[in-house]
Amino acid sequence: MTEATGKINLLGLTQPEMEEFFDSIGEKRFRAGQVMKWIHHFGVDDFAAMTNVGKVLREKLEARAYIRGPEVVSEDISTDGTRKWVVRVASGSCVETVYIPQGSRGTLCVSSQAGCALDCSFCSTGKQGFNSDLTAAEIIGQVWIANKSFGSVPAKIDRAITNVVMMGMGEPLLNFDNVVAAMKLMMDDLGYGISKRKVTLSTSGVVPMIDKLGEVIDVSLALSLHAPNDALRNTLVPINKKYPLAVLLAACKRYVARLGEKRVLTIEYTLLKDVNDRTEHAEEMIELLKDIPCKINLIPFNPFPHSGYERPSNNSIRRFQDLLYKAGHNVTVRTTRGEDIDAACGQLVGQVMDRTRRSERYIAVRQLSNEADAPHTAANRT
Ligand code: SAH
Ligand code: SF4
Repeated sequence: MTEATGKINLLGLTQPEMEEFFDSIGEKRFRAGQVMKWIHHFGVDDFAAMTNVGKVLREKLEARAYIRGPEVVSEDISTDGTRKWVVRVASGSCVETVYIPQGSRGTLCVSSQAGCALDCSFCSTGKQGFNSDLTAAEIIGQVWIANKSFGSVPAKIDRAITNVVMMGMGEPLLNFDNVVAAMKLMMDDLGYGISKRKVTLSTSGVVPMIDKLGEVIDVSLALSLHAPNDALRNTLVPINKKYPLAVLLAACKRYVARLGEKRVLTIEYTLLKDVNDRTEHAEEMIELLKDIPCKINLIPFNPFPHSGYERPSNNSIRRFQDLLYKAGHNVTVRTTRGEDIDAACGQLVGQVMDRTRRSERYIAVRQLSNEADAPHTAANRT
């Protein structure tokens, strides 16, 4: 949070932290609200623009603090309205943020880490290894940048960003404090005022952190299931060896039960041809989920070079969906969006500093963006 200059970045501070900051510089706590509105509602990064803050205080703030998001490396807009930003974080790596408009809904897919340590076998982010945790400012900074690109958004008018999903690069529960702080800002009226139901954290299953999450926040939860039994899940989602399905689903049930209000768990299931897309997998899944209030989101696999996996045919995807549907499940298939700008969540590229080799070289993990059969899905999120 502090730089060598001793200055503090105000962008990632939650309301209580901002009040504490004003306390610490001998100023009134109500200033927190004023400054937060300038930062988050109006996208301001310059104290001089804060016209309801007196000149003396503005100068004091200038001396003690700054407002800075990650550096925008590129912004692309797809013909279907999907937008993608590549941003560089302090560690030098780049991460991606994707905006998906769908009717009256606008979903922002946000990254939590540069790379990921969990190495799921079908995920290109996992293949890059782990580089760094994003700070709270770098996480909320992605919302700040996207919001600014739609013009300043005072609290009352229709918002371009109605939903946020922590489904970009990284495992959000392994960067717990920063992700929680950023999600609090997403929901705070002094931040982005998004309803708790419309902020969703997706996890591959870091069980102790699911319980911890339930103690501090009430966002929606999505579980990356991808397999209906431990033997298969161990091969696809290696963290399953540590936290197998029985303990994982029990933790998810506890989390959702705590939310009350008829809220349900979202199950994400990436369909891999001949790996987890057979009738018996659907049947096992129906049995596994029979006591869990949930809705299911099927994600046809997004190919990337040397993944070793294939996307099932549309017929097998539909067949799998039908089996679940007939068993009474609410089940959707994530549709293709932002194809022309490589906007696929779950296979986000970015550029991650190669830590293991300890060199200055960047590894650029590009996907088969110019192949006609390479779908890019980043839509239909909760
Ligand atoms: N680390 C978190 C959130 C980010 S990934 C998690 O794993 O839940 C968002 C979703 O995309 C996850 O369900 C993930 O398993 C899925 N995904 C990853 N790689 C994919 C690919 N190549 N094709 C389709 N979905 C993929
Ligand atoms: Fe990490 Fe999620 Fe990719 Fe698994 S699917 S490697 S947890 S980002």
